[in-house]
Amino acid sequence: MNVRLRLRQSDLQRMEAHARTALPRECCGVILGEKTDMEWRASGIEESANLAPVTCTDRFEVDPALLLRLQKASRAGGPRMIGVYHSHPNGLAAPSQTDLELSWQTGFLWLITAIDGRGMETRAFLRAETEFIPVTLLMQDESA
Ligand SMILES: [Zn+2]
Repeated sequence: MNVRLRLRQSDLQRMEAHARTALPRECCGVILGEKTDMEWRASGIEESANLAPVTCTDRFEVDPALLLRLQKASRAGGPRMIGVYHSHPNGLAAPSQTDLELSWQTGFLWLITAIDGRGMETRAFLRAETEFIPVTLLMQDESA
């Protein structure tokens, strides 16, 4: 299965800036968009506060009030929530065991920005039944 996600360059930049400002903790947020037969398309992101305990540097918790607001907006005709993003201050651009244990919804996209002293790398995954499947990121500039 080859899963693809179209993502705007500006949204990637916002996620990576969020990862930087959240250090030493993880950042998190929601990805909005739609799914077509061929691929997923992100239309925007919403930053969330990380509600995991402040002393935790290896987990995140999206604000449920934000999720509720986005669900209502989606039902009213707004964009769908298609995934979540968060950062890994340990520099590993892959889902952790914690991510697997805490991910509740299959068919949801997970974007992970690995950040460490050397730089950043963002990768996408799809939560399947028992694992995360790598997703090909297709970057798109604003004019497209
Ligand atoms: Zn994680």
